[in-house]
Amino acid sequence: MIPIAFPMIGSDEQKAVVQVLESRHLVQGGVVEEFENSFAKYIGVKHAVATSNGTTALELAIKSSGINDGEIITTPFSFISSSNSILFSGARPVFADINESYTINPDEIEKRVTDKTRAIMPVHLYGNPCDMKSIMEIAERHDLVVIEDSCQAHGAEYNGKKVGSFGVGCFSFYPTKNMTTGEGGIITTDNSDVADTARLLRNHGQDKRYSHKIVGYNYRMTDIAAAIGVQQLRKLDDMNKKRIENAHKLTSGLKNIKGVIIPETKDGLKHVFHQYTVRVNKDFPVSRDELSNILTKNNIGNAVHYPIPIHMQESYKKLGYSESLPISEIFSREVISLPVHPGLTEADIENIIDVIRSVK
Ligand SMILES: *Cc1c(COP(=O)(O)O)cnc(C)c1O
Repeated sequence: MIPIAFPMIGSDEQKAVVQVLESRHLVQGGVVEEFENSFAKYIGVKHAVATSNGTTALELAIKSSGINDGEIITTPFSFISSSNSILFSGARPVFADINESYTINPDEIEKRVTDKTRAIMPVHLYGNPCDMKSIMEIAERHDLVVIEDSCQAHGAEYNGKKVGSFGVGCFSFYPTKNMTTGEGGIITTDNSDVADTARLLRNHGQDKRYSHKIVGYNYRMTDIAAAIGVQQLRKLDDMNKKRIENAHKLTSGLKNIKGVIIPETKDGLKHVFHQYTVRVNKDFPVSRDELSNILTKNNIGNAVHYPIPIHMQESYKKLGYSESLPISEIFSREVISLPVHPGLTEADIENIIDVIRSVK
């Protein structure tokens, strides 16, 4: 089976973990700070605050920006965690539809700005940067915070600037992502107030031992996880390079197939291909779900990211969401992700292309 995701874990990660175990400082040793410093430097921001996962990073980023009510405009075409984190903060997600790049459409954001709007949360879906120029302009004009859900976009760039450095950045280190710590997340920001508040909230609101300034959580990252992260970050650019090469190979093999729409990268963007996602429409000989079955039968891992847009999930319908967001709804029926991870061989990629090309 060619897996849809494959964490690249080797002896460097193994040694680093063993070192932490032998030190007995499993949490709140020095490794989390070391990881934070190297991640902040990599993204090009002053501060990074590591957390227990990407969802807690998002939640703390919102709360640390001073938001606990009002509305945050985000995309319905994402993993559920993007908008759940908004609900956890006390704000209400307002959904704006996407464009052909699978990311939030700035014109749709603009239409939804009201007096209640506090922030915009773009999601750099599949590793593809959002239209940050337009989004930052809207944010500036209406005095809104920008929380970038960069959970799929470690190392992605918009006009040479890393995502996660425009607004407050949030990353996840879940095993399928471009780099992993097992479970883990991180907030990136130049704003020292946001970073300080996030540090307090992450650790029971504690400034000194058993002195609690605010009501906080335990959203800490372990030193075991951070040790994996330090090693993974050193390899991130190479792993992304391999993803991009694999994506180019898939694209040259899959272009010009009737009914298959391949992902495009706009000029000036560095797409890091967390996912290589195509659309299968009615001009293809079989349905998207049928193609998925054919791939699985041929031992090729595949997945639908995501089959139900967030506003149509049962949990959100119960909250009263009933608006129609047509592009997200159409794309959710057409998208399918193919393996693109750095562990693929040349033969794997040829196999994927051959199987799709031979569907009649
Ligand atoms: C993975 C992911 C998250 C959440 O990360 P966890 O570490 O799983 O909590 C949030 N948003 C997006 C778009 C993601 O892909």
